[in-house]
Amino acid sequence: MTIFDSPAFQGHEGVHAFADQGTGLRGFIAIHSTARGPAAGGCRMWPYRNEQAAVDDALGLARAMSFKNAVADLDLGGGKSVIIGDSRLNKTPALFEAFGRAVDVLGGRYWAAEDVGVSAADLAHARKSTRFIAGLEGHPAAAGDPSPVTAEGVKRGIELAVGRVLGRDLAGIAVALQGVGHVGAYLADKLAAAGAHLIVTDIDEAAAHAVAARTGARVVAPDAIFDVEADVFAPCALGGAINAQTLPRLKARIVAGGANNQLADPSIGAALVDRGIAYAPDFVINGGGIISIAAEIRALEAGGAYDRAWVEMKLARLVQTLDAILERGLRECRPTQEIAIDIAQARIDAARVRERVLEYS
Ligand code: NAD
Repeated sequence: MTIFDSPAFQGHEGVHAFADQGTGLRGFIAIHSTARGPAAGGCRMWPYRNEQAAVDDALGLARAMSFKNAVADLDLGGGKSVIIGDSRLNKTPALFEAFGRAVDVLGGRYWAAEDVGVSAADLAHARKSTRFIAGLEGHPAAAGDPSPVTAEGVKRGIELAVGRVLGRDLAGIAVALQGVGHVGAYLADKLAAAGAHLIVTDIDEAAAHAVAARTGARVVAPDAIFDVEADVFAPCALGGAINAQTLPRLKARIVAGGANNQLADPSIGAALVDRGIAYAPDFVINGGGIISIAAEIRALEAGGAYDRAWVEMKLARLVQTLDAILERGLRECRPTQEIAIDIAQARIDAARVRERVLEYS
């Protein structure tokens, strides 16, 4: 099977494979759509078992970025990059400078930022080779780590889902939190401050215990998180947390968390509806980080400063969109992921039509 036949490739504008012999860099940049603007999305560093797994991940994540950027009403398309490697062992400044050169080749069709395994410090090295890098630190346009904004959006999303489904606020609500990395740890602090009870897990036990020490959370083993009594299940680790094996184990009536690609496959959306579980679509609820990145791109392009008021305005509107999606999902007994994709796709299609009208006028 060639890449063009791969179901993962469908709908994408292109994939750029890159390698650098000197540093051992190997990876892919997937561009799903530039209809609404330059593709933007994080760079993930992960020890993929092979190249196919890496390219498939990049494609799935890029498509999700198109939807995420459109549903957040940003003038950005969807893209994502992956670097094949272990972020604990294989990172060097030279590797990220080489990654910057791979981004630069695309001439601004793709802007990179952080994702799993990649930090603002890594991106500072990439920025030496290209200007198309956001999520930086230490200058007026810089958004810095987007995770706190992502976590704020997720917290507000959980709050409104709890209000809609359970008719309560966060005080006394039990949240099972899978993954307490950048997003999960900030989210844990915010939920605990609002009075929620937390049950947390992480494959990094020390990270889970550090969060527990601050928030009073109960720590459970990674596999046990699916069985705990909770009102909300919040996936904040990697993709595929909700699958045919884990779904029957969940006790929560709400799934709402920061991770990308939470549903192992689209059929899980319907299975959630059948089980009466309200799902906050991942690419809607976790859009805060890309809003923060978009603010940095705007500032970099205009030569201005990061605008917190603009970020707050976009975040508040995104939460309103999420509320409308949850309301429709409950009313129509329809998977919320589908409703959200319809909204995003309509916005992408409208941008394509505008593009064509401009071309021919
Ligand atoms: P991170 O690497 O800082 O955190 C992920 C955490 O999950 C780590 O602590 C890791 O040890 C843990 N983990 C991995 N597998 C696990 C498992 N099976 N069980 C329990 N814990 C596990 O990454 P992050 O930046 O916090 O991102 C988390 C998720 O949110 C990812 O899916 C990412 O794509 C998504 N996301 C992040 C942002 C952002 O602003 N950082 C924005 C949108 C979406």
